[in-house]
Amino acid sequence: MNSEIYRFTSFTTSNCYILRPFNDDVCFFIDLPPDLEEPLQYVKQHNLTIGGALVTHGHFDHALGMNSFNGPIHMNLDDEFLARNPQEQLSMFTNNKLTSESFNGEIKEVNNSGLDFIKIYHNPGHTEGSTSFEFTDLGLIFTGDFIFKEGIGRTDLSSGNHRDMINSIKNVYTLFKPDYEILPGHGPSEKVSNISKNNIFVKEHIYD
Ligand SMILES: [Zn+2]
Repeated sequence: MNSEIYRFTSFTTSNCYILRPFNDDVCFFIDLPPDLEEPLQYVKQHNLTIGGALVTHGHFDHALGMNSFNGPIHMNLDDEFLARNPQEQLSMFTNNKLTSESFNGEIKEVNNSGLDFIKIYHNPGHTEGSTSFEFTDLGLIFTGDFIFKEGIGRTDLSSGNHRDMINSIKNVYTLFKPDYEILPGHGPSEKVSNISKNNIFVKEHIYD
């Protein structure tokens, strides 16, 4: 299946991906960082139709763009509170480019999304509602701040839990097919098999 992926990296270093899974003009956003102008410009320039957004977790650097996004937003509702109330997270991150407005629009539970072309993995640890999205036909997995090329997500931030993270690596990461590509919430993408071989934080828990 043909597809096109556009990656925009926010000033917060988080990635926003725009994916066209069906080789037509329908696109999906994966994560909504605070500065969505450039990705939204891309949609306009290419005359795309927004199918919706999939948000990997509720931290502001992945969800604050909800305020400027026009389309259905799906996420694990365990992270709804974080996504709607960025004030506390923002107070730890002083940058006057960011507004701390809470989000009052609709957020749909991703597990009832009806988007049956996406496989949804719940991988708590970085946050309670952290989720990965697999586009099985394309061999792509968007992991947010669960698994990076060379690291894993922090567990010392709001709603993080280290034991959950280890369980998610043991029980969720190990379900990922070796030849699939991981597209993380920060940094470059990498094949699952290479991560299993080279990422010391992942290796530590999958082979013990
Ligand atoms: Zn995060």
